[in-house]
Amino acid sequence: MRRGLKRRLKIKQSARGCVLRLPRMVSIRAERAAILDGRSTAEQIKKEVAAEVQALSQTSGLKPCLAAVLVGDNDASAVYVRNKVRACDEVGIASEQHRLPSSTMTEELLELIRELNQRQDVDGILIQLPLPKQIDEATIIEAVNPTKDVDGFHPVNVGLLAMGRPRFVPCTPAGIIEVLERNKIEIAGANACVVGRSQIVGRPVASLLLQRHATVTICHSRTHDLPSVTRQADILVAAIGRPAFIRGNFIKPGATVIDVGVNKMTDTDEARAVFGDEAKKRIEAIERRGYTLVGDVHPAEADEVAGLRTPVPGGVGLLTVAMLMRNTLQAAKWRRGL
Ligand code: NAP
Repeated sequence: MRRGLKRRLKIKQSARGCVLRLPRMVSIRAERAAILDGRSTAEQIKKEVAAEVQALSQTSGLKPCLAAVLVGDNDASAVYVRNKVRACDEVGIASEQHRLPSSTMTEELLELIRELNQRQDVDGILIQLPLPKQIDEATIIEAVNPTKDVDGFHPVNVGLLAMGRPRFVPCTPAGIIEVLERNKIEIAGANACVVGRSQIVGRPVASLLLQRHATVTICHSRTHDLPSVTRQADILVAAIGRPAFIRGNFIKPGATVIDVGVNKMTDTDEARAVFGDEAKKRIEAIERRGYTLVGDVHPAEADEVAGLRTPVPGGVGLLTVAMLMRNTLQAAKWRRGL
């Protein structure tokens, strides 16, 4: 979209607020990166899901149901589950929460999963990760019935995605594709670079970009001279888990930057250095509640170079929840052959 925008004669607001008339084919970076708003895309997806849930209930009396399982007392996990349950309420999907103590053993969790697998009224099963150390995560993921695996982590769903026949696509990667496509960012033919190769973000988003005909490079902690690789990318996805790691010199001018990272920043000096115009607000947040959230991308530097950037918060995280709603609706339909 960025390239298309630059080709058109247009009126742009400069960083100083004056209006510039840019001629055809002028390629300058006078303005800051535009924000790719995850909130509006997520709201749009949830509206579509809500309309379909309502139609389903009118035609077949069916109400999809998500069972969310939370083990232990990880604060962040509790917030994520709460947000997912709240989103279910918003779109008309039934939900139930299963809270197990942090001392839960693999066999006890397996017992609950077996019960949820068998229940006809449960369409989607979500096991909030990470699980406490004594629980074997792989065994748990593989125990979920693949037809109820709305997180898309079961090997059957991972395999289908790798083969280019996706059934349940992990929610964060699916949300990233939605925000790109709905904002008309050209994927086919683009150089896409994914930093991070996790099972839940890096690998699946690389598969999805490849299926849409991007030329995809996957980077990780052993990549040599990372900035020289990421600087080739028209679409740069950062899923690393390191605060503000992707600096301005990692980014190709005009690139679309998708920031997946969610990191806590507690130092006001760091916040001042990283947030640019937003620093005051972020420092107030640190003083008020002890932290502010920052992505894997350095926002102030990225805004000097990138064309588009997803913010943290307000970007990929909201899309993840919206895509979970869509996967749960799909599960309810597919299981009944609808
Ligand atoms: P992860 O499993 O910890 O994987 C991190 C990846 O980053 C690994 O592949 C690692 O490489 C790579 N990496 C680490 N340091 C690096 C470096 N210095 N240079 C290049 N690559 C490096 O992480 P994840 O689960 O994908 O999550 C990544 C981030 O996204 C986290 O902040 C997480 O909280 C966030 N997240 C957000 C959402 C959301 O909805 N917004 C969803 C999921 C995750 P190696 O493989 O070589 O170790």
